[in-house]
Amino acid sequence: MSLSCFEFTDQKNQLTLEEAQQALLTSATQITHSIQLPLADTAGLSLASDIIAPINVPQNTNAAMDGYAIHSRDLADQKSWKIIGESLAGQGFKGELQTGESVYITTGAPLPAGADTVVMIEQCRVETNTVYFEQVKKIQPGSHVRQAGEDIQQGQVVLKQGTRLGSAQLGLLASLGLDQVPVHQPVKVAVFSTGDEVTAPGQSLPAAGIYDANRFTLMAMLDALGCQVTDLGILPDNLQQITQALSQASAEHQLVLTSGGVSVGDADFVKQALSQLGETRFWRLAIRPGRPFAFGHLGQNAAGQTCLFAGLPGNPVATLVTFMLLVQPMIRQLQGASCCLPPVWTAVAETLLKSRSGRSDFHRGRFSFNASGQLQVRSTGAQGSGILTSAHQGNCLIRIPDDQPDIPAGDSVTIYPFYEWLPGYRGFAE
Ligand code: AMP
Ligand code: MG
Repeated sequence: MSLSCFEFTDQKNQLTLEEAQQALLTSATQITHSIQLPLADTAGLSLASDIIAPINVPQNTNAAMDGYAIHSRDLADQKSWKIIGESLAGQGFKGELQTGESVYITTGAPLPAGADTVVMIEQCRVETNTVYFEQVKKIQPGSHVRQAGEDIQQGQVVLKQGTRLGSAQLGLLASLGLDQVPVHQPVKVAVFSTGDEVTAPGQSLPAAGIYDANRFTLMAMLDALGCQVTDLGILPDNLQQITQALSQASAEHQLVLTSGGVSVGDADFVKQALSQLGETRFWRLAIRPGRPFAFGHLGQNAAGQTCLFAGLPGNPVATLVTFMLLVQPMIRQLQGASCCLPPVWTAVAETLLKSRSGRSDFHRGRFSFNASGQLQVRSTGAQGSGILTSAHQGNCLIRIPDDQPDIPAGDSVTIYPFYEWLPGYRGFAE
C-alpha cells in the first residue's frame, strides 16, 4: 500500500473529502473471508455470494382473505354454490371443485384444485350446505388470490452478493427457509481513546478532565456496521504506552481506531509510535469539523493480513463525522459491500448558510418537509466540533462548500441523511 500520492507537503494543500475517501478505499482492498453464519447472527453483515431462491414464495397459490373458493367461470350463470369442504391454513383441501361447487377457505390456505377466485366472507350468506354471494356481478375473476411465486420465483437471484443484511433482508432469507447464510466475516476492530484528560464514564472526573465520549460513539457505530469490536480503553499521552498498546492491538485486529492525539500539539507521540510500527500519514482534511486525520497501517496481524489504522480527531463531533464519511465506506468495502459511499440528497435551505473559506463545512442539520412536500433543511445552531448535542438534535449533515458563496434561504444544498448513513442512528424525535 502506498499512501504517498495522497501526502501533501505544501502546507496550503489539504485533502478534500472525496480525495480522502478515495485514499481509504484504495488502501482497503483486502476483503474479509466468507463464512456461513446462522441467519440470526448476520444482521449488519454483507452477503458473500448471490442468494438463489430454492423455492417459490409463496409456495402455493393461496387465499388472501377468509371466504369461499370458487371458479370464476360459474359467476355468469350460477346463483348459489354447494359447499363441499374446507381448506384451512396449513392443511388444504384434497379434492377438486366441479361446476357450482365451493370450498370454505381461510387466509393463507392453498387454493383447491379447480378454483381460481376467493369471495370474501363478508360478501357471503350461508344456508346449510349452500353459499350465496352478494353482488355476484361485481366479483372479479381471480380476486383475493395470491399466486405461487408471486413474490419470489424458484431459481431467481433474490439478493446479490455484497447486499448488507438488515431486517427486511433477514425476513426474506428466512422466508426462503435458509438458516445458514454466506457472509463476509465481521471486520475485527480495536478502539482506543487517547489523552491524559480523557476519563472513563463512572470514574470521578479530575479537575482538568473530560469524560470519554468518543469510544462509545465509535463502538456503537462499529457495532451497527456488524464489526467485531474490542474496547481497549483509554491511552495516556505517553509514547511507550501508545506504542505498546497499538502493537498488541495490531496482532489481533484488521483495523485499529484511535481518537485524539492527532492534532499538531500532541501528534508527536502517536506519530512516533506509528512510524515504529508501520506506515501512517497525517493528513489535513479540507472539512470542518475534522481537519487532523491519520491513516495507514500497523504492519501484519497474526493472521498475516495488513492491520489498517485510522487516527480520528479528538473533538467528539469531528470523531463522529470523520467516521461516518471516511471510515465507514472503508469498513463497508472491507466487508465486501456493493455500496460504500454515502447517499446524498438535495434540500432547500430554510435560512442563510454561511460559507467559510479554506474548508467545506459539514453542519449538523435537521431536514423536514414543508407544507408543499418539499424537502427543506435548517442548521441545528451552534456548530463547534465539541458540541455533541448538535449531532443528537440533527438528522443529517449539511454540506456547505468553501469554494462557493453563501447559500441564501431558498437555495438548494446537499445533505447526508443520518438514518441512511450514521450507523446506529436512532433519533427521530424533534
Ligand atoms: P486532541 O485531538 O487530542 O487534541 O483532542 C481535541 C479535543 O477533543 C480536546 O479538547 C480533547 O479533550 C477532546 N477529546 C479528545 N478525546 C476525547 C474523547 N474520547 N471524548 C471526548 N473528548 C475528547
Ligand atoms: Mg489529546
